Amino acid sequence: MKIPFSPPYINEAVEQEVLSALRSGWITTGPKTKALEEAVAAYSNVSNVLCVNSATSAMMLVLHWYGLTRGDEVIVPAYTYCATALAAMHIGAKVVMVDVNEDFNISVEKIEAAITEKTKAIVPVDFAGWPCDYNAINALVNQPHIKSKFIAKGEQQQKLGRILVMSDAAHSFGAVYNNKPTGCLTDISVFSFHAVKNLTTAEGGAICINLPEPFDNAAVYKTLRLWSLNGQNKDALTKSQAGGWKYDIVYPGFKMNMPDVCAAIGLAQIREYNSLLAERKRVFDFYGEVFEKQSWAWLPPYTKENTSSSYHLYPLRIKNISEQQRDAIIDTIAATGVAVNVHFIPMPMLTVFKSAGYHIEDYPQAYKNYSCEISLPIYPQLTLEQCQYITDNVIASVLSIIQ
Ligand SMILES: *Cc1c(COP(=O)(O)O)cnc(C)c1O
Repeated sequence: MKIPFSPPYINEAVEQEVLSALRSGWITTGPKTKALEEAVAAYSNVSNVLCVNSATSAMMLVLHWYGLTRGDEVIVPAYTYCATALAAMHIGAKVVMVDVNEDFNISVEKIEAAITEKTKAIVPVDFAGWPCDYNAINALVNQPHIKSKFIAKGEQQQKLGRILVMSDAAHSFGAVYNNKPTGCLTDISVFSFHAVKNLTTAEGGAICINLPEPFDNAAVYKTLRLWSLNGQNKDALTKSQAGGWKYDIVYPGFKMNMPDVCAAIGLAQIREYNSLLAERKRVFDFYGEVFEKQSWAWLPPYTKENTSSSYHLYPLRIKNISEQQRDAIIDTIAATGVAVNVHFIPMPMLTVFKSAGYHIEDYPQAYKNYSCEISLPIYPQLTLEQCQYITDNVIASVLSIIQ
């Protein structure tokens, strides 16, 4: 049996919505993108959401808006996809990596130890769809001794008066923390709608704007939207109307807007999202019931009081194995036709970061999580028979290597 790792969810409703964009005479940013923004805002319980062409772009745009530039520091977990760090690097900021916890998420203690007078933003990552400890992170940036270190440059930093918390919620659309959906848990949250994510627009991202008083979130939305469209004071749709040709460029903006033909995919999916999430949970629960009986299995976190995952990944860990044994298990599983993955190779192990002076030895928990981790397929289309085939072969493969 061949089981792919993460195929996109494309049904007839998705096809119809994309066809409707194609046939409407308008395929780039317009009514479908606006409708997706409104649907994401409603789902996440925030008033303003901007869709752009990727989560990476979204994070660059927000950090640039917050006035980050050369010399400023951004704290990120060492255990994430490179985009979390690259977004900060692209606008010239310095990436400060910190270690994670056993639950894969950023350590709040390590964040506190890494804060300096140059720290402008913290980017927690909701690994696998499991929300970070936002109560602790939000409390930390508001502590008087942390706030007094903050040196505000520019209008936005003066207004907030502290370190910005921007959640990399690429994995966690649909997760819940203390009865609140991701998106509204901190100042800014960024979702990814990349092809492998829970909700997709092929490529895309969304910025949930949830800044405290005295920010006007609707005004911030307008600014970010303008800056995602070259800083042009009229979007292409408005400009295309008869007589609407005149425009001005009022800011040297980026080109990061989401096309309607892409938004259409997400728009159809979000209407069914609760049932897609339930299907992911079905697979997650199946794995849990099977692996719970295996003494070597270390199960991923997914629920505690008032908090639940978005079931984006199933990061299975195998107790007391080496990285080489993990690799051998993956080869054995792959030979059965089941595609698995590793999330993530910690950033300090990648060439770009290694040559910039980051050392994996400084992030022992990240290495430990990585070295024994195997991500199993998890998506709504998986049948019970396929789930059974996956768990049978994972168990056989693990036993063949560890015994
Ligand atoms: C996928 C992913 C991103 C990047 O998303 P894009 O939309 O592809 O830019 C960022 N962070 C994490 C943790 C991711 O998994």
